[in-house]
Amino acid sequence: MVERADAVVIGAGVVGLAVARALAQAGREVIVVEQADSIGTETSSRNSEVIHAGIYYPQGSLKALTCVEGRTRLYAYCAERGIPHKRLGKLIVACDEAQLTGLAGLKRKAEANGVDDLVWLDSSQAKRLEPALACVGALLSPSTGIIDSHAYMLALQGDAEAAGTMIAFNTPVLAATIGNDGIALETGGDQPLRLLARTVINSAGLHAPALAGKFRGLPESAVPPGHFAKGNYYTLAGRSPFSRLIYPAPVAAGLGVHITVDLAGQARFGPDVEWIETIDYTVDPSRAQSFYTAIRTYWPGLPDGALQPGYAGIRPKLQAPGEPAKDFVIQGPADHGIRGLVNLFGIESPGLTASLAIADRAAALCVP
Ligand SMILES: Cc1cc2nc3c(=O)[nH]c(=O)nc-3n(C[C@H](O)[C@H](O)[C@H](O)COP(=O)(O)OP(=O)(O)OC[C@H]3O[C@@H](n4cnc5c(N)ncnc54)[C@H](O)[C@@H]3O)c2cc1C
Repeated sequence: MVERADAVVIGAGVVGLAVARALAQAGREVIVVEQADSIGTETSSRNSEVIHAGIYYPQGSLKALTCVEGRTRLYAYCAERGIPHKRLGKLIVACDEAQLTGLAGLKRKAEANGVDDLVWLDSSQAKRLEPALACVGALLSPSTGIIDSHAYMLALQGDAEAAGTMIAFNTPVLAATIGNDGIALETGGDQPLRLLARTVINSAGLHAPALAGKFRGLPESAVPPGHFAKGNYYTLAGRSPFSRLIYPAPVAAGLGVHITVDLAGQARFGPDVEWIETIDYTVDPSRAQSFYTAIRTYWPGLPDGALQPGYAGIRPKLQAPGEPAKDFVIQGPADHGIRGLVNLFGIESPGLTASLAIADRAAALCVP
């Protein structure tokens, strides 16, 4: 049997939920199809839960634009909806002269992105804020914060459902056929069905490129290869020695092994970068040694044996190992020539921060 649908969002992660909310509030009839049995079981619940300021990304990139805009809107949304969050600030630390030069470049990049509140600290000023820290200088980012990402997703789900969205769990999309009368989605699960949708938003996170590859009628050239970069976390028994987030100077494929705290004050360390071929969330205890080495560059007091394997998340990368970083891709009809289809590719960090801004851009491409 074929069911007709107006707009179908594939994936109930933070971005899919934000897109569903935006479309439903704009008056569209939205169905979210999610392969798991609840919201946010993949990358959206396996991240650092940091509200990023927008410091690291190339000027004019989608990452920069949606992070800065998304961050402002996210703080306002958290306040409006009572979502637990804290604007606790972060220090990006330099441990030698070369890293100080790197931080100066980072400050210029941040200012070009509209992040104009970074403050230079010399080592004694930094130590006054965070006595356990060792560094030769640091940048303070006052507008960085943390958020309860699950509470945020529940709020998005609530808004979307209040505006009429239906969420079908245990409903994996297997393939699609693009035709003149819409996009026919084939779903699996206990009750397989065919949904003929006017609009489809592929917000399948790690699986978005592979899924788009199964859309008959979508040019192959429109589908980028996806790559997986796992990030492992370790936790610290006891409370964090820091009251702010502590980041080292950034490294090639990530932001470096940093220290974040959750809203309960529990410290976590990571994520590192481990390129993988297949999805696997186990944290290998033998990686701990590289964490001790990285963390002790700026926290020499980290005691032996203090780190416990925590959890892992996987970054949906568009570049292969060693290639330059790629931007978010919000791909609409002007890019692939297909009316009603929007693909979201490479929505890695800062996708949580940027989710409300990404959602508006995606929704704007969904002309029925
Ligand atoms: C290690 C790590 C740390 C991060 N830290 C931060 C941070 O501190 N701050 C920040 O702003 N961002 C951070 N991010 C990025 C952020 O977590 C992601 O950008 C965001 O969660 C992406 O959400 P999403 O909805 O696109 O994807 P996901 O959360 O992966 O959701 C995709 C959904 O699609 C579903 N799905 C997949 N295939 C199908 C199918 N065929 N049919 C139906 N459903 C399907 C999945 O089950 C899943 O629920 C981090 C990411 C990682 C990996």
